Amino acid sequence: MKAEAAYDVEAVRAAFPLIAGNPDLVYLDSAATSQKPRAVLDAMRVYYERDNANVHRGLYDLARRSTDAYEAARTRIARFVNAREPAEIVWVRGSTEAINLVAASWGHANIRAGDEILLTVLEHHSNIVPWQLLAQRTGARLRYVDIDDDGRLRMDQMHDALSSGRVRIVAVAHASNALGTVHPIADIARAAHAAGARVLVDGAQGAPHLPIDVQRLDCDFYTISGHKMGGPMGIGALWARRELLEEMPPYHGGGEMIERVEADHSTWADVPHKFEAGTPHVAGAVAMGAAADWLDTLGGDARERHEHALVEYGLERLSAVDGLRILGAATPDDRLAIFSFALVGVHPHDIATVLDAEHIAVRAGHHCAQLLMRRLGVPATTRASCWVHTTTDEIDRLVDGLGVVKTMFA
Ligand code: PMP
Repeated sequence: MKAEAAYDVEAVRAAFPLIAGNPDLVYLDSAATSQKPRAVLDAMRVYYERDNANVHRGLYDLARRSTDAYEAARTRIARFVNAREPAEIVWVRGSTEAINLVAASWGHANIRAGDEILLTVLEHHSNIVPWQLLAQRTGARLRYVDIDDDGRLRMDQMHDALSSGRVRIVAVAHASNALGTVHPIADIARAAHAAGARVLVDGAQGAPHLPIDVQRLDCDFYTISGHKMGGPMGIGALWARRELLEEMPPYHGGGEMIERVEADHSTWADVPHKFEAGTPHVAGAVAMGAAADWLDTLGGDARERHEHALVEYGLERLSAVDGLRILGAATPDDRLAIFSFALVGVHPHDIATVLDAEHIAVRAGHHCAQLLMRRLGVPATTRASCWVHTTTDEIDRLVDGLGVVKTMFA
């Protein structure tokens, strides 16, 4: 059954110039980066046309306007994730930088030889490599929680690992970019805190798809990639509890992040500015705030219903394709409309190439999750990832395209 009744997907599509301007394109690579609604593009242009000046420095009106727009965007993102206050939002380039910041700064201050850092086999390389660098520097040990055959986290292993009493931080994705599974973050946070560990949530795939409430999730760090939620590339946010940010040493040094500079040492600005050295991506922050505004106009419940309808429809249509194996959860609950699959006898790159000729953009590869690919016993997968503008007709086009693939490689 096609279910988009309560959600005007055509109006949503019309809001994206790239989608509206390419009626033949089926864009199914939103997990890599989202397309940008006009409201975001306008916010960026208007900022540069009307308010552009460096922030936190100028004593003139234009500089005040720029600073106000930048700080208003921080307040907007704080509201988007239900932070207690805007100071809990640090602007970064994206989830990768946010995780590197936490691993370098919090990790440097808190991780010692013999400590354990608990990850999962599902993590994106961005949530593995910064912890490897930290482990190599400190002598800490990395441990990994496995998945079950449905692509769900093995919570029994999570509890086992935490019982060592040595785990200092659990770093886990809110949702897997490769399989689309959504993880039980509040449960993980409860167990981790009971074991004295901190919790970092890689929210790169969370913020575009799920309502985010960091207080309800009760994590310690949450990362957001602006470019995956309709915002521009090169901007993102780290949310962390104020107490943690205050305890953490700076990550980058330079202008903007200091209070006073002496010849041989300096003192730091208050949080969050302590972590924001140099001229920031002000237009990006403003446009990311506009992306949050625009997403909210769609309505959280309507978005969730749309996503769920796509999950159900996608699973139903793809699982009916002969020779196709869906990797990850085959049931619709706690799952995003991100579908990774393998087609017997056809390399994922060949699938993507044939689909491209049908104007269908999907991703083929390891999705920056090589540990997961090894765990699944595949070199790569084909991934079709949906977002707010995706229609069930586009899923039909994907399935038809897979029919073409099969006739070519039969
Ligand atoms: N984590 C996950 C789960 C992701 O999907 C991505 C982006 N592919 C990242 C981290 C990296 O995010 P960014 O591009 O914002 O650095």
